[in-house]
Amino acid sequence: MAYSVAEKHSIRETLSKNNRVIAAGIVFTGVPGQVIRNGAVAIAGKRIEWVGSDADLPAQYRSWPYEQYPDSTVLPGLVEAHAHLGTEWREQSEPDVIDPLPLEQGWNVLQSLHEAQQLALVGVTAVQSLGSRYYADVVVREAIEQGLVAGPRIVAAGAILTPTAGHGWKNGSEVDSESEILRAIREHHKAGVNVIKIAGTGGFLSKGSAQWKPQFSIEELKIATREAHRLGKRVAVHAHGTLGIEYAVEAGVDFIAHASFVSDDGVTCFVPELADRIAQAGIYVDVASARTYPPVADEPRSPRAYELYRHGVKIVAGHDVGIYGVTPSYYVYGLRQLAKQGIPTEEILISATSRAAAAIGLAGITGVLQSGYEADIIVVEGNPLQDLVSLEKLQQVILRGDRFLPQSSHDFCDWTDDFDYLRNNTGVQHALETRFAYLQRQQMQQW
Ligand SMILES: [Zn+2]
Repeated sequence: MAYSVAEKHSIRETLSKNNRVIAAGIVFTGVPGQVIRNGAVAIAGKRIEWVGSDADLPAQYRSWPYEQYPDSTVLPGLVEAHAHLGTEWREQSEPDVIDPLPLEQGWNVLQSLHEAQQLALVGVTAVQSLGSRYYADVVVREAIEQGLVAGPRIVAAGAILTPTAGHGWKNGSEVDSESEILRAIREHHKAGVNVIKIAGTGGFLSKGSAQWKPQFSIEELKIATREAHRLGKRVAVHAHGTLGIEYAVEAGVDFIAHASFVSDDGVTCFVPELADRIAQAGIYVDVASARTYPPVADEPRSPRAYELYRHGVKIVAGHDVGIYGVTPSYYVYGLRQLAKQGIPTEEILISATSRAAAAIGLAGITGVLQSGYEADIIVVEGNPLQDLVSLEKLQQVILRGDRFLPQSSHDFCDWTDDFDYLRNNTGVQHALETRFAYLQRQQMQQW
């Protein structure tokens, strides 16, 4: 296809609209050990063009718009490796209709979008949805990819595979035999999921499920993994119970959610040899447990995170965002729980950025500030390497090169009485003027 000179010019204009350089006191690239003091990141459209010391900024970028944050840190956007976009109906949002059923599907999509955008507001630029009703996560992923709405990158699992009445069955795909497992995976594939999520053990939030017991045999997990891999998809297994973790490792899965080491007596008991096996297999584990899990006396909120880290397991940040009581604003709190256990902040930042991106299948695309990667970037005040609270002082969230600007919210007010608001609102003024102009024109012609 050939473009005219004018067309080429206008394309270049559009592409260069987002070209800019962001300089900051610290650039944390997401590569272990790599911190650039007084660094700069050159962004061209959606992509990162150059990263380095501000003093070495190549001449071609010097004419680009330049934003300077001397007391801040630029880092890859945060990654939530374990969220649930589009789960069961929330009581507090009971609709004003007799039968909510016909509404549910659409509602789930909108709720997923809302959740995804709330995640972006706290600096999350990529999220893995590990359990979603009606493929709501796939729908929202597509809407974001197409540019219909703004939001983070989504890696979608659709519904969790679980036995009948197993953990997460309400939002799940219930499967009770090898052939049902294969069928569910193929249907998920057809519906466009990126990853297969399996409830390997019971969970805390499902009535009648035992967290310490496996829900699938090793053979079933092997069949599922083989099939998912055949289709080019990763497998993420939810496992609280120790035996369930063992089964997942044995089956060769890619990702374990929780790995809480709940033994048969219901108490958590770390098994060093199993941790070593997880590390050797290179399986990623999300460790930041949700605030709403029932607390166990004298145990940290993220059980076993420190031990897993000490055993060389590739831990990543995942908070179960979207389950009851866990909102996106919980993200940084979760990271701080890891710091409390003694995990170094650099390791936590890696686990929340570059490693988490790799864990959800986005290695080489996002999670690292390096030329060629997509520009999913946050700017925060202060230095999160010194204090993770700095991550809450967000100054910019950039999604694929575009600054994410949330819809401005306003307090509810009595609209009919708020004349000041109407007088000062240019949008309302414009609408009124347009209407009067229309009425005037109508008056002009009476035949
Ligand atoms: Zn979960």
